[in-house]
Amino acid sequence: MENEFAPCTAEQREAVLERLAVIRETIREACRESGREESEVTLMAVTKTVAPELINLAFDHGVTVLGENRVQEFLAKRPLYRPDAEVQFIGHLQTNKVKQIADKVTLIHSVDSVHLAEAVSKAAQQCGRIMPILLEVNIGGELSKSGVSPQELPALLEAVQNLPAVRVDGLMTIPPPMAEKSEQMRTFSEMYRLYDKMQQYAPMHTLSMGMSGDYAAAVRCGATIVRIGSGLFGARYYPPKTE
Ligand SMILES: *Cc1c(COP(=O)(O)O)cnc(C)c1O
Repeated sequence: MENEFAPCTAEQREAVLERLAVIRETIREACRESGREESEVTLMAVTKTVAPELINLAFDHGVTVLGENRVQEFLAKRPLYRPDAEVQFIGHLQTNKVKQIADKVTLIHSVDSVHLAEAVSKAAQQCGRIMPILLEVNIGGELSKSGVSPQELPALLEAVQNLPAVRVDGLMTIPPPMAEKSEQMRTFSEMYRLYDKMQQYAPMHTLSMGMSGDYAAAVRCGATIVRIGSGLFGARYYPPKTE
């Protein structure tokens, strides 16, 4: 594909580096406050709508993991990424698209049904690999659109563990936006307790929670990977639909 993104301005590049420094400092501070090591927390750059040039810039400055939401956008932008970019899938995934990404990502964060896990296992088998996955949990109640409830989680975990080519590395959640720090802390603590409880069924080491508006609270509550888009790259611009 042609690079449809206009070259970025020096101001845009500078702004990304400034935001990156602030995010790093915020993570460092949250780790210090909660007695954690900075090395326990991975900063993922969420790429949706962002120009590859800015994504590569973040990579050049120490970001190591990219998060993709949409299969089509990812496949189009992928040739423009630095070849050593590690990519994980975080968006809602349709079963019929799994095979398009199965050989291109290192982790799928958003598995919330046995049906999807089966499709992932099948696609992974076809590429001769085991796919690490996270199970997506709806911790925020009825306002969240995706994920299984905490009550449904043990059954999903059990079913998925029997599949030949997936390995459950942990849990992921996307709570609804929470304005209050106390509410963020309450929600992420609940998620951490659930993660801790699941260790008896499967040894997990990845807890994916926290986005631009709430990652400090997520880190304080035990997140091992935070997914940051607008807080790093600026507000997302969605062009008007042309067809
Ligand atoms: C877009 C997105 C993010 C990043 O959101 P920001 O608020 O822009 O940081 C994180 N996780 C998922 C699953 C997303 O879709």
